[in-house]
Amino acid sequence: MTEPGIGSDLASMSTTAIRDGDEYVLNGSKTFITNGINADLVIVAAKTDPGERHKGMSLLILEAPSEGFERGRNLDKVGLHAQDTAELFFNDVRVPVENRLGAEGEGFLLLVKNLPQERLSIAMASTAHARAMLGWTIEYRAGATGLRQAHRHLPEQPVPPRRDAHRDHDRGIVRGPLPGGAQRRRAHRRGGFDGQVVVHRAPEAGGGRLPATARGYGYMTEYPIARAYTDSRITTIYGGTTEIMKEIIGRSMGF
Ligand SMILES: Cc1cc2nc3c(=O)[nH]c(=O)nc-3n(C[C@H](O)[C@H](O)[C@H](O)COP(=O)(O)OP(=O)(O)OC[C@H]3O[C@@H](n4cnc5c(N)ncnc54)[C@H](O)[C@@H]3O)c2cc1C
Repeated sequence: MTEPGIGSDLASMSTTAIRDGDEYVLNGSKTFITNGINADLVIVAAKTDPGERHKGMSLLILEAPSEGFERGRNLDKVGLHAQDTAELFFNDVRVPVENRLGAEGEGFLLLVKNLPQERLSIAMASTAHARAMLGWTIEYRAGATGLRQAHRHLPEQPVPPRRDAHRDHDRGIVRGPLPGGAQRRRAHRRGGFDGQVVVHRAPEAGGGRLPATARGYGYMTEYPIARAYTDSRITTIYGGTTEIMKEIIGRSMGF
């Protein structure tokens, strides 16, 4: 989906796929594509009708290698070093019409329908991340101060008085059960509303709100908490930024 100048506003994308007989001719470029270096099949969102916005978008399955398809750099990120993130270039790449996913012009709708599942998986990973960070922090503090016994049951202690809705909700996400199969199915059926809420808060809990440890050691990469800090930052950006999640939640509530 994402292009050098276009992330959140997908309808403005400029990659085109113009039909020529039984093929589409694909031109343009993408960036920040997860697994772009390793992938053999790439699902490309492109404008089959460049005159339209959302309704002009289709999804094409591009098989690698294909003439005119090139991969750029494996981008150097602050975190997630085990995962590749690539630039992709399409220069008159010919893609058979039978490689189109869904109907022509249906691409945006398919993304809207299926992105909530990706967002739920980001939310679940963020929850696990936040729990691990909280666990390491408690363990470290207990070890550092000799209060291991006193802190052993901290996660099970009553939730302190409400200070603000966000914190209360984040605490629930970090300590509560992960979304079960039923909740995931409901989220999917309802256009992802639940998923959007969880994905909005869970990354914030993992990426920004838990203090990890305020000691200098927590900034050293030899400690897992420092790596978790850089790895989790991305969860408030990819799959839709925090602000875009708020937009979608607001719209589904009628605002
Ligand atoms: C490591 C990594 C992996 C990625 N993997 C993929 C991938 O596999 N496939 C893919 O397609 N993309 C991928 N992305 C791209 C990612 O989805 C985009 O970076 C993200 O959607 C934000 O787009 P942008 O960077 O262009 O920022 P912009 O859209 O320019 O946003 C900039 C800021 O403006 C805010 N903003 C934008 N629009 C609005 C609005 N309407 N209202 C309020 N605030 C707004 C945003 O919240 C953000 O704070 C990846 C990115 C990274 C860093």
